[in-house]
Amino acid sequence: MRGAGSTPYRLGRGCTRLWLVPFEAIFGQAAAVGTLEQMLRAGRVHHALRFEGIEGVGKEMAAMAFAQALVCTAGNPTGCGGCSACERAVTMGEGVPSVPLHPDVIFVERGLYPPEVLGRTRPEAQELSVDQIRTVVLERAAFPPHEGKARIYIVRRAEELSISAANALLKTLEEPGRNTYFVLLVSRPARLLSTIRSRTLRVRFAPLGDDVLRKILASHGISSEEVERVIPLCAGSATAALELADAHASEQREAFVRQALEALQSKDSAAALAFADSQGRDKAVVRLHLGALAVHFARQAREAVLRQELSARQFALRHELVLQAISDVERNASPVLAIENMMLRLRAETG
Ligand SMILES: [Zn+2]
Repeated sequence: MRGAGSTPYRLGRGCTRLWLVPFEAIFGQAAAVGTLEQMLRAGRVHHALRFEGIEGVGKEMAAMAFAQALVCTAGNPTGCGGCSACERAVTMGEGVPSVPLHPDVIFVERGLYPPEVLGRTRPEAQELSVDQIRTVVLERAAFPPHEGKARIYIVRRAEELSISAANALLKTLEEPGRNTYFVLLVSRPARLLSTIRSRTLRVRFAPLGDDVLRKILASHGISSEEVERVIPLCAGSATAALELADAHASEQREAFVRQALEALQSKDSAAALAFADSQGRDKAVVRLHLGALAVHFARQAREAVLRQELSARQFALRHELVLQAISDVERNASPVLAIENMMLRLRAETG
């Protein structure tokens, strides 16, 4: 079971929770997933794979599903997704570094581990260091997997391996020992050292098609209008699409706050009414925008308190009025009327 004090595995920044079911949760990579499942079912898993493809097309999700399959204790060759081993493989422990709870699923990544853990005085600024390979990979590789079944190293951005790190890794990559596997994630294959390339088997991950992107974006609650706007800009990467949609949404929230404040400063109430009328009818969006305005007033109130200014009370009152509007929208008031009402009361209170 997923214990307290842990967070579920997440896809990208600011995204909704994603609970992985092995392989079935990976959209649009039938060829790559098929290759992996075939290896697992046949019991002939190559010990050093490299997943190649641009950022944000499912390489890491596939690596996590692959790790589940290797450590699963339920007897399912492609991973059951439900046993304790499967769950711990994809659940990150709290704290730094953020790594899976399962001790045999090991992340290797430039900058993931604090310098002192690696016996370094400085962070790994440019390259994945030989210190990390020694500490995180080689020291453990000398022992059998903790829980007996298998150990898997997932190397993020393997193209960042330094030459000395790669050299230190080569022998283990060739003969990793029983039940030890490597998956190297590579999004810029031209930068990968050839010594590493020649010792790993490539699994290709293609850019995602538009329909797959639509499905992924919709599952993150992004409006269909926004989906169609970002798809042509994201070059087949779900991560890029989610980041674009995120950036756009935060720009819109900022614009809402700016325009509301401008309208409140205007001499007559026509500007406030026009502002309310110009808002969209999507309640979820209006609610998010109002939330940003509430945060703005709460912050101003806090700052005024710190400066011991009388205006603190006024900002607190504005904050209350915005919260009232949010609750009106939640209680099914028309968004335009709720904003209109809020704007008029804000003017009356502060004018
Ligand atoms: Zn399992």
